[in-house]
Amino acid sequence: MAFSPSFKVMGIEIELHWSLLVLLLLILADQGVYAVLSILFLFAFVVLHELSHSYVAIKNGVGVRKITLFPIGGMATIEEVSIPPDVEFKLALAGPLFNFAVIAVTLLLTLLATEPVSSFLWMIIQINLVLGVFNLLPAIPLDGGRVWRSWREKKVSHLRATLEAVKLSRFVAILLFSLSLIIAFTYDNLGILLWNFLISAVIYLGSQSELSVAILKDSAKGVFVRDAMNFSAVSVDSNSTLREASSLMYATRSPLVVVSSSPVRILSYRHLIGIERGKWGKTRAAEVAQPSPACRMEEPILDAWKKMKSADVSMLPVLFDGELIGTISEIDIEKLLVLNRLRIDSPEKVEN
Ligand SMILES: [Zn+2]
Repeated sequence: MAFSPSFKVMGIEIELHWSLLVLLLLILADQGVYAVLSILFLFAFVVLHELSHSYVAIKNGVGVRKITLFPIGGMATIEEVSIPPDVEFKLALAGPLFNFAVIAVTLLLTLLATEPVSSFLWMIIQINLVLGVFNLLPAIPLDGGRVWRSWREKKVSHLRATLEAVKLSRFVAILLFSLSLIIAFTYDNLGILLWNFLISAVIYLGSQSELSVAILKDSAKGVFVRDAMNFSAVSVDSNSTLREASSLMYATRSPLVVVSSSPVRILSYRHLIGIERGKWGKTRAAEVAQPSPACRMEEPILDAWKKMKSADVSMLPVLFDGELIGTISEIDIEKLLVLNRLRIDSPEKVEN
């Protein structure tokens, strides 16, 4: 696992991504402490920007799991899969609005300040201007793209609005990169090229994954775990050995077995390959099994998908009255949703 230190503010975990640490170390080696301190100062405003999003999210009943700081900025991880468009609008706008509020207050302070304080205040204004304006670019996953999409959702469906936002995002990404090409070669500044390449790539890939999620959400309306689950649940006694468990998995073509159902602990192929094959006959399944989230039959299918994503697993046990009754896999969900789309789609429905 990569090393990512974290701390808490307002009960929200703030995590420094390892790539940011590497960047800070490189800058420390190359340009010294002062350069690192000024980047940390910049990131203080990035954190406050993300906390503004989080504050509005929590006020509107949307849970925030953590804020991760990357070299190109911060990202708040939201717990909900579906956020109502009016909430997303306020939530997305909160970050840039914070930066513009800082600019307004600091501008007033510059009227009273003298050197060197006023230079320092102008630096704060510059930082917040860059953060505010950059984040308002109309490209998903940036705030501006989300504001634009939630505003479009007043007229069209979430899927249609996302499709439009993704097209716009790609245009912005290409424009940003082309502009940086011109600047880079006119002013012989290759740093900006690398930077904008990273940002354009984040926009390009980020908007693509937003689209996948929007398609999934759209096709998952009214679909529950019971519609996609597999009713043959495989479980082993906790005293079974790994060899017995693996033979059962092989015989039933199941990539996971449940070792205990309250609390739910599972043994999957991923856990098995961590143990030397020679020790499978002597190791008990209970020693290797790991706690796992589970879902209920009557749960919306997107909730199950979300649990898989946040636990980074591809299959979940399904319980009914605390008893194991089956499993559901990411592939089962995607297969059903694709079929569902094929069945419900008419050109009008895709359009709106
Ligand atoms: Zn933001």
